[in-house]
Amino acid sequence: MGTLREFRIAFSGLKLGQHEYKLSVGEAFFEKYHNLEIDHGAVDVNLVMTKKERMLIFDFHLKGWVELICDRCLGKYKHYIEDEEKMFVKRQNGIYEMVEEAEDVLIIPDDWSDFDVGHYVYEYIAVLLPMKRVHANDEKGNPLCDPKMLEILNKVKVTDEDEKEGEKKESDENIDPRWEALRKLKNNQ
Ligand SMILES: [Zn+2]
Repeated sequence: MGTLREFRIAFSGLKLGQHEYKLSVGEAFFEKYHNLEIDHGAVDVNLVMTKKERMLIFDFHLKGWVELICDRCLGKYKHYIEDEEKMFVKRQNGIYEMVEEAEDVLIIPDDWSDFDVGHYVYEYIAVLLPMKRVHANDEKGNPLCDPKMLEILNKVKVTDEDEKEGEKKESDENIDPRWEALRKLKNNQ
């Protein structure tokens, strides 16, 4: 697992004002934050940290792509993302662990000297991922899925169903109503 040291922003030795960081999200990042279920991608994170006396302000600009697996044809495709986020980190005496004051406002103990933004970049990316991971459509409205794969997968699905049905019961009338609906749709075309 990569240590992702670049995401750990050491602020204690810095003078007040703006500091810019160029972070890159790649394989090591996806390995660490494996909940994203992404293996490949390249997202540039332009980070501007404004250091104030008692506060750090982080301005993130994310831009790049992640590779997703299409739920329909199992092919890989690039999903492009771009986002801007802002986060405030207050420094406070007398606390011993980080406190989340609001969604984008954190309070950290005064003696911390660095702050790991990796987890927040992970959350930003997670929110940008589509619920349904499928190929987009072309200009004509046809899905960009691999037609050969779809054909094969459809055959496999039907075979699987047949086998399961055979194991379970003799009745061959017990077909998933959704399949029946699909068949009717196809016949009408
Ligand atoms: Zn597809």
